[in-house]
Amino acid sequence: MKLRFIGTGAADWDIAHPSSDINFRRCSSCLINDELLIDPGPCVYEFCDTFGLPDLTGKVKYIVTTHFHGDHISADTAKRLMSEGARWIVTECPVPVKFGRYTVTSVPANHNARFSTHLIVSDGESELLYALDGGWMTWREWEEIKKHHFGAMVFDGTMGNVRGNWRMFTHNDFYMVAEMKKYLGEFTDRTIVSHVAKCAGEDHETQARSLEPYGIELAYDGWVTEI
Ligand SMILES: [Zn+2]
Ligand SMILES: [Zn+2]
Repeated sequence: MKLRFIGTGAADWDIAHPSSDINFRRCSSCLINDELLIDPGPCVYEFCDTFGLPDLTGKVKYIVTTHFHGDHISADTAKRLMSEGARWIVTECPVPVKFGRYTVTSVPANHNARFSTHLIVSDGESELLYALDGGWMTWREWEEIKKHHFGAMVFDGTMGNVRGNWRMFTHNDFYMVAEMKKYLGEFTDRTIVSHVAKCAGEDHETQARSLEPYGIELAYDGWVTEI
């Protein structure tokens, strides 16, 4: 399964002034095998312009969503993708939905939007847990997770290395992800952090280095990796 991280930031980045610099993060979206888009956020088309990938959106066949916060879903992006042929896939916890080569199961997330979900995505070869946004995770999510072995789990690391922030009830900091990995590590080959807030304050390299001792990778905008 090929993951292309279109955006790896939380909602506080200045998306009106985007950049291809590794220290700029746009709203979180992730493209699977260049055809299944998780979260049609407001930066998808700008990403393609900035990174010189004009044909990418035309390849998107399916759209799934985690939740309806404005940094994860944009009506303009969704409409434009659908006008290019993409299909909107509706998920319902915890019923597996099948389309093309994919099975997507949504599970309830501990997050402050109505119907917040995390997604278990299979392409028939590998499985991905896309777990953002959410603080820790719900026991119902755990009940589903333990039935799988993942090529990667992707968590939000919204607060970065800032500890004790009020958002811990809806988002993770790096320490929380590291703590979850101590146990969940046996259910996944790789653990990746995305959705980092600007107010976390540090640059990509500093943050990535801080996660290394835990065996956790830090995503950045434009990163492509196979799981
Ligand atoms: Zn978000
Ligand atoms: Zn959110």
